[in-house]
Amino acid sequence: MSGLSLRDELEEREKRDLAPYAVLARSSRGRAFGEPEHPYRTAFQRDRERVVASTAFRRLEHKTQVFVATESDYYRTRLTHTIEVSQIARTVARALRLNEDLAEAISLAHDLGHTPFGHAGQEALHDLMAGHGGFEHNLQSLRIVDLLERRYAKFRGLNLSYEVREGIWKRRSESQDDAARLGFDRKLAATLEAQVADAADSLAYNHHDVDDGLKSGMISEQDLGSVELWQRALGAADERIKAAGDKADANPRVRRREAIRFLVDLQVTDLVATTRRRLEEDRIASFDDVRHAKRPLVGLSAELDARKHELEEFLFKRVYRHYRVMRMAEKAKRFLGALFEEYVKHPHELPEEYQEWVAREGVHRGVADYIAGMTDRYAQREYEKLFHPFEQT
Ligand code: MG
Repeated sequence: MSGLSLRDELEEREKRDLAPYAVLARSSRGRAFGEPEHPYRTAFQRDRERVVASTAFRRLEHKTQVFVATESDYYRTRLTHTIEVSQIARTVARALRLNEDLAEAISLAHDLGHTPFGHAGQEALHDLMAGHGGFEHNLQSLRIVDLLERRYAKFRGLNLSYEVREGIWKRRSESQDDAARLGFDRKLAATLEAQVADAADSLAYNHHDVDDGLKSGMISEQDLGSVELWQRALGAADERIKAAGDKADANPRVRRREAIRFLVDLQVTDLVATTRRRLEEDRIASFDDVRHAKRPLVGLSAELDARKHELEEFLFKRVYRHYRVMRMAEKAKRFLGALFEEYVKHPHELPEEYQEWVAREGVHRGVADYIAGMTDRYAQREYEKLFHPFEQT
């Protein structure tokens, strides 16, 4: 193997060990700005590390997922959610012999474009940007990795590989024109690695929103009585507790965690088995077959999918619409709206870097970029500085 770099060797290994329908780092469509390959990391390994080193990634720690982080140290934040998504995606990718590095890079980047205060922030910016090009968090994630991160002398953004960018995009733009502007082809189906990252996202928030919902006291175990998936999980937890020689009610916290673990395991196992079956049924034998597949290939069985919907409906009604969540959401909308209006009216109140950005991108888009990048507490402090008469500026 003399003369070969470690990266060459890693790429050889991918070719040998991965499934024929996996994305190989060597076959990547490359980066917008040509760069020499790294001597000992594949393109996707390098992308993953660029994402982790970004400013937007570090800010995820202080952004709300569903429950405002300052109310308890226990709840998931965008960062811990992202880590859970990436670990599920890696497990599934490995089980299907897909490119784990690619699935991980997409997962770690998938929520970079989220605003402060969870979906309330996204809704607020979406409304405020109506008539100015709109706002959508997946497209915002792309803006971050393509434009907003400033850490390289030669280019803006992180200059990520095509396949990672496409995975972040998630086919969310409205038209083929939009896709073309971003460099994508809407007619091609998503890579399996991108589909895995997407599936891992919804699987992760389902179980952790049940967990955090119970912990917060917004829902109780009795409330979950009508949700079959949760009853199944509790049954499995009780069996495990009995097998360990304990009574079911001896430690409710352990019981809840056993149930949550069962939920994750059940869904991941089903996801892997169902995807394998679809790959076989549709005779997917190459990467090209994936790109031209007629239906999504990564997914849950119809039975489990229906149960999962039932759980999601419960979460929607009982958790996401809970008055404590709604109160926070309305408050967040109000003060993000106030920040937005103020900056749009008086852009000279923006930090200098953003005054330049507004001059380049237009005032609405520039202000949306600034607000979307804020953490919860940064947004709160900005609000105080602008509107509370005796706050220091
Ligand atoms: Mg997510």
